[in-house]
Amino acid sequence: MKQTRNKDACFFDRESETMPWEKKRESLNRRFLEIFQRAYQRSKTYEKRFRNAGIEVRDIRSLEDVEKIPLFSTRDLVEWQRQHWPFGGIETLDPKEFHRIYINAGLVFQPGASWEFEDTSWAEALCAAGFRGGDRIINTFSYHLWPFAFILDESARRIGATVIPTGAGNTMMQVRIMQMLEINGFMGTPAFLMTLMQRAEAMGMNLERDLCLDAALVSAEMLPESLRGRLEKKLAMTIRQAYGTVLLGCIGYECGEMTGLHVPHNMLVEVIDPQTGKRVPEGAAGEIVATNFNPSYPMIRMATGDLSILTMEACPCGRTGPKLRRIIGRIDQAVKIRGTFVHPWQADEVMSRFPEVYKYQVVVTREDHSDVMTFFVELKEEPGRESVLKGRMERDIKDLLTVKGVVRIVPKGSIADHHQKIEDRRRWD
Ligand SMILES: [Zn+2]
Repeated sequence: MKQTRNKDACFFDRESETMPWEKKRESLNRRFLEIFQRAYQRSKTYEKRFRNAGIEVRDIRSLEDVEKIPLFSTRDLVEWQRQHWPFGGIETLDPKEFHRIYINAGLVFQPGASWEFEDTSWAEALCAAGFRGGDRIINTFSYHLWPFAFILDESARRIGATVIPTGAGNTMMQVRIMQMLEINGFMGTPAFLMTLMQRAEAMGMNLERDLCLDAALVSAEMLPESLRGRLEKKLAMTIRQAYGTVLLGCIGYECGEMTGLHVPHNMLVEVIDPQTGKRVPEGAAGEIVATNFNPSYPMIRMATGDLSILTMEACPCGRTGPKLRRIIGRIDQAVKIRGTFVHPWQADEVMSRFPEVYKYQVVVTREDHSDVMTFFVELKEEPGRESVLKGRMERDIKDLLTVKGVVRIVPKGSIADHHQKIEDRRRWD
């Protein structure tokens, strides 16, 4: 039977999570200076990079100076790892002191946490999602090679929950385990949760009666609101998402209020303009850059390639500090049209102005040696005056994207279900 959850007890470290922002910022400032100095003194790659950028230890005196420090991406890390096996020389310990080597996609190596560091960012996310001590959680992320399942496993242990390390696959057995062990928590991708539910239904189960699931933390892929709604309704449970990377930790997580993604108290997050590398004003979209405080394998200003908006708006849950509104896409999904970058989220912004729109797709083609951007649009209902709507849309496209676009209203069902938001059909010989 399902238990009713006490929604108040949803903090991992209430004091740190709810302290006034000024105080939190002071603590971030202190920890940032510590990690910067440690990296400078003990990591050969950071030392070389900082010197090449003309930065001395004394040049970085507070968070105000953070923008002087160069950014790096996964691509840089791969390059450094080819030069200094296996960790790229950013580690501050002898590589022999790490007790695991994890393998990430693209053969990016990552040392298992050393004895001295406890990353609590995912534990914070679990508590905010409604998990607490005594829960029984299946962890359906793969334990094979990748670090993420282990990181979540450790985090669940930290909050006093019991983990069943089911890993990915074998859905029929997973459903049986959920029923027999009265599992009440799920960690995995939203798509895998859906797969498990479909499997349980196919096995003749009544999801609400036969299963005890009441909280899920999903990550590693986007959670469309339509999917969240379907799952929550089917299972009478709450589903919260967390965003992060294995190298950095959790960068943002939802609380019960769902006002955005709270940045964990031990994570420094900036949102920058990918073109200039400078911070964008609060409320503007840009690339997420994060710094963690792992003393043995610090990530200092790692650019994630993900786009979001940072806000300092207060949340009724009581957590303080910045939030990310949501993840709005990847910078590499942008397409250059007539010399201007167009991001999928910008196209969304235009189309969200028209409640008549059911579905749309942007297709870029080449005609007479020039780029043509066409918005194929399906409407919820037949339009009264198609040409008026089309005209308004084309005007807004030009205004917001600064590139001319053509709108074509197409019958419902013309656009495939799993379509790329911006499809580039240009052929270059
Ligand atoms: Zn909140």
